[in-house]
Amino acid sequence: MSDNRPERAPATRGGGEVDRPSTDHLAGPKVRDSLIPAPLQGFGVTFAQIFRKVTTEQYPFEPKVTKPRYHGRHVLNRHPDGLEKCVGCELCAWACPADAIYVEGGDNTEEARYSPGERYGAVYQINYLRCIFCGLCIEACPTRSLTMSNDFELADDNRQDLIYTKEQLMAPLLPGMEQPPHPMRLGDDEKDYYLRVPGSSAAEPVRAEQV
Ligand code: SF4
Ligand code: SF4
Repeated sequence: MSDNRPERAPATRGGGEVDRPSTDHLAGPKVRDSLIPAPLQGFGVTFAQIFRKVTTEQYPFEPKVTKPRYHGRHVLNRHPDGLEKCVGCELCAWACPADAIYVEGGDNTEEARYSPGERYGAVYQINYLRCIFCGLCIEACPTRSLTMSNDFELADDNRQDLIYTKEQLMAPLLPGMEQPPHPMRLGDDEKDYYLRVPGSSAAEPVRAEQV
């Protein structure tokens, strides 16, 4: 059975010029103007690599040094007297797109004080099976308690050990710091802690980088 449909005319621009599809892609490879045969040019590239500096990393025998602002394992920081900066507000957990942070706040008392102010982070966990190291949690933290270190060695062979607890995340006690709970040493309330002048207290010696 014959097809009686009329053949479509090629598209034209104004003035009758016909628009035809480009056939450049059907042309063969361009010939390079060189007196050296192509196989020798190929071996030349290989030969040149022999004298280049080797870039193989010797990790873990030579520790890898990251960029200063690399996003690695989190740290929960302390005030200069050892009290915790975390106030258990959960803003970091709400900001986390991967639902990797779990926080339970607790009430400070005069007998057992872990942070300046009313509340502290009683339970704090980060699930490194979920974390994508985006840094949104540290942006959300109002007290600069939560920061990220350059430590990237987080691999393990079981799921449980990749849920880091508060004890694992807390910054170590530096000289002059005291293990909480203890009373506030740098002021009468939390505002004194956040507005203080570095070095204004015996519990906060001025370090070289602050001078
Ligand atoms: S770095 Fe990103 S994914 Fe990881 S805990 Fe913080 S907000 Fe969540
Ligand atoms: S780390 Fe910061 S944002 Fe998270 S609960 Fe503690 S104070 Fe709040």
